Order: sequence, then structure tokens, then C-alpha cells
Amino acid sequence: MLSNTEIGIDLGTANVLIYSKQKGVVLNEPSVVAIDVHTKNVVAVGTEAKEMVGKTPKNIVPIRPLQEGVIADYDVTAKMLKEFMKKVSKKVGLSMRKPIVVVCTPSGSTSVERRAIHNAVSSYGAKQVHLIEEPVAAAIGADLPVDEPLANVIVDIGGGTTEVGIISFGGVVSCNAIRVGGDRFDNEIIQYIRKEYNVLIGDRTAENIKIEIGNAHPDHKQTETEVRGRDMVTGLPKTLTVTSSEIHSALKESLDQILEAIRSTLENCPPELSGDIVDHGIVLTGGGSLLNGIQDWLSDEIFVPVHLAPNPLESVAIGTGKSLKIIDKLQKASK
Ligand code: ADP
Ligand code: MG
Repeated sequence: MLSNTEIGIDLGTANVLIYSKQKGVVLNEPSVVAIDVHTKNVVAVGTEAKEMVGKTPKNIVPIRPLQEGVIADYDVTAKMLKEFMKKVSKKVGLSMRKPIVVVCTPSGSTSVERRAIHNAVSSYGAKQVHLIEEPVAAAIGADLPVDEPLANVIVDIGGGTTEVGIISFGGVVSCNAIRVGGDRFDNEIIQYIRKEYNVLIGDRTAENIKIEIGNAHPDHKQTETEVRGRDMVTGLPKTLTVTSSEIHSALKESLDQILEAIRSTLENCPPELSGDIVDHGIVLTGGGSLLNGIQDWLSDEIFVPVHLAPNPLESVAIGTGKSLKIIDKLQKASK
């Protein structure tokens, strides 16, 4: 008998990933959908849609249906999910006949939203659909021993949120999610350049600046980069040079909020587990954990070892896919 395909979906606010046990990560695209406002039709999804951001005619609007960790538009989220699943079965040749699917949902999502995701995947023809909590998936993906009675601390810095979770014995002991992540960083950079130089830059330019010269550590080797935007006084295009310490100052407040979220989660940890944390430290994952200097800065601040997950952009998807093996146990633990 042919076994059903097992897939894991990481429904992130910035990126959606699909992982299959047989083929690894088979899809990795931005969570963006371009919609024609007149016909309400989907014009493009994923990478193609993200490329349209800020560049389309008025009738085509790129939407990010998941924002700040919540499903802002679940019709569009469902459409996007279906398009991605279709894409995977076409392009990768992965049989999507009655797949068994595990979806990792943002922990800020309500039960109504979770049901909507469940329904969207079921209506695609899935045989079984399971939902898994983000910190658990992230920890499994980072190869942490989640089913042992031992504190695993995972900090997932995504696009819309940062989620700090302590997982032990297959369940979430404590968890803290804040609406600060990579998107907020980009926004702070936009605001900074507008205030300081009277120049308007786009989201993608801000993201590139962050990746290129952003640094979380106050003491870092200075770098700089050229930035292009629109001068708000003359209305004309303008090029300027910004330094990494300027960008650091723009990001500082958001970074401190992340630090606070980690601190308060550690402070609320049951004392028996605190000892584990001193020994094993915490693990960073999510795209935001790739910000330069963040690992060193955090370990200077919280005095426990800070590790980076082997593959921060993929570990939630991998963990979601791998969670099937232990899903029964996890469901029992969360009851
Ligand atoms: P989500 O799970 O919410 O979809 P991801 O874990 O995919 O989010 O992370 C996306 C975020 O990571 C974006 O804000 C992106 O700009 C940021 N990011 C990706 N690579 C880097 C990098 N090298 N440095 C800093 N930020 C990065
Ligand atoms: Mg994520």
C-alpha cells in the first residue's frame, strides 16, 4: 500500500515553507499575495508577488495576509496556502493525494483563525490536519530534546513577532509573544531615515540595509552603505550614506523589547528548570536571529549561553514536518 505524503507547513508572517519528509524543504516563498482589487482574483503569490511590492499599478495590491503574528485576512491566507500546495504538487512532483499535514500557526492566532487554517488545508484534500504551536515546532527543528523533562528555551524572531518559549517534556511550560520582529526593524529604519534625512525609502530597501549593515551589538565594527530614496523636500531621487551605528540606534528600542521578553520569560520559569537554562542556554531561530551581532549582544545581556539554530529560516518548517512522529505525545501533553 502506498503511504500518504507527510508534509509540514510553516505559516510564517514573512515566509511560508513546506517541508516533506521525503524531499526536505520543497517550497520557501514570501507570505505575499497580489490581488486585483476589481476582480478580487489572485494575480500572483509568493516571490513573484513580493517583487511587485511598491511597484504595481493601482488595481493590483500586494497583501501580506499574516501580520504581527495574526491572520489579518484569512480568506487570502487560505487562497495563498492552496496556491502553494498546488505549486508543490506541480513543480516538485510530490504527490499531494490525501496528504497528512501539520501546520505551524502563529501563537497569536485565535481558535477561529486556527479552525480557518484547518479548513483551508482540509478542503485541499488532506487526509489529516494537525496544528502545532510555533515554539514546539521551532524547538524540534533546532534538534532540541523536547520530549525530555528538561528546559529548552527557544527564541524565534520572525517577521511579525518574536516568540519566546520554554519547552519541557513535549509541552510549552511558558511562552511569551511580542509583536516585534524583523518587520519592526525595517520600519524603524524607514522612520529613522525619514526623520534624519527627510528621505523616504521603501520596505525592501530598509530590509536590505538591515541585512547588510544592521548590528545588534553596540560595540561592532563600523560599516556603511549607500541608500536610495526620495527626497521629501524636492521630491527627487536621492542617494545618501548611512552608517551601521546609525542603524543600530534606530533598532535599539525594538531590540530592547526583545531582550525584555526573554528576560521576563526566564524570570517566570519554574526554579527547577532554571538550572537547565544556566547549563544549556537559549537557542535563537527565525530570520531575525540572523541580524549581525545579536548572539553576542544577548549573551552579554542575559549571562547564559546563546546558541544559533543550525538553519534559522528553515527550522520551524523542518520541526513541523518532523513533529508527526511525536504528535500523539504532544497532543496529550497539551491537553
Ligand atoms: P516568519 O516566521 O514570521 O515568516 P522568518 O523567520 O522567515 O519570519 O524571518 C523573516 C525575517 O527575517 C524578515 O524580517 C527578514 O528581513 C529577516 N531576515 C532574514 N535574513 C536576515 C538577515 N541576514 N539579517 C537580519 N534579518 C534577516
Ligand atoms: Mg516563523
